[in-house]
Amino acid sequence: MIRHRSLLIRFSVLTFLAFSTLSSVAQDRPRPEETEVWEPVPPVVTPGAYAGLMAPPSDAIVLFDGTHLDEWVSTRTGEAAGWVINDGVVSVVQAAGGIHTRRHFRDYQLHLEWMVPIGVIGSGQSRGNSGLFMAWDLERGQGYELQILDSYENETYVNGMAGATYKQSIPLVNPMRPPGQWQTYDVIWRAPRFEEDGTLAQPARVTAFFNGILIQDNVAMEGETYYIGRPAYIPFERAPIHLQAHGDPGPTLSFRNIWIRPLGQD
Ligand code: MG
Repeated sequence: MIRHRSLLIRFSVLTFLAFSTLSSVAQDRPRPEETEVWEPVPPVVTPGAYAGLMAPPSDAIVLFDGTHLDEWVSTRTGEAAGWVINDGVVSVVQAAGGIHTRRHFRDYQLHLEWMVPIGVIGSGQSRGNSGLFMAWDLERGQGYELQILDSYENETYVNGMAGATYKQSIPLVNPMRPPGQWQTYDVIWRAPRFEEDGTLAQPARVTAFFNGILIQDNVAMEGETYYIGRPAYIPFERAPIHLQAHGDPGPTLSFRNIWIRPLGQD
């Protein structure tokens, strides 16, 4: 009986130690909520009327002209991008996953148009979520995201709304049009520079216009954008551009008229 009791006590002590260790591990583990910022909410600005396609300038590399995805590959397989084209518009196919450019870039100016579908469902981050990854790390499957989301009357953390560099820089204003209307992004991306030993020499910089309105004004990035944890820099020189398939239910986002102008010595 005594022996039985001592075993029981030992078991209880061990169980307590195991659980207290587990719970302290759980408490130490970073959570996504820790990097969410909810205020201040950027003011809503109604953009000027959409005046139609802004055709690419003569020195642009056209990444999508409405007819084919030859400049893109499936990020999952490296084979043909599995998104579907209809009437000059390409739409996300969730099952196919994200896509990225065949070409790798350093600094550039990019134009891209995107549309949240009529009938979009969900809320917060699960409503019309995609993302323009201005540089994508193929090896690790992560990068520098300018958020694409339905931010028309859809509350979420403001460093995760449309036009935010994800969980870093809040957009200056919210010029989002309602679902079913085209949105434009015009982005100037300056890739980070690294010393030979891999330390950061210059941070990445982003200037972005959303529906023609300045939302990111030469903002220095803190590193790659992560769902969980603090941003970090991982050295690279050139990288593809990635479009995210976020996996939300319901009808998916569409893109059109994507072109790029590499800058400087690129
Ligand atoms: Mg996203």
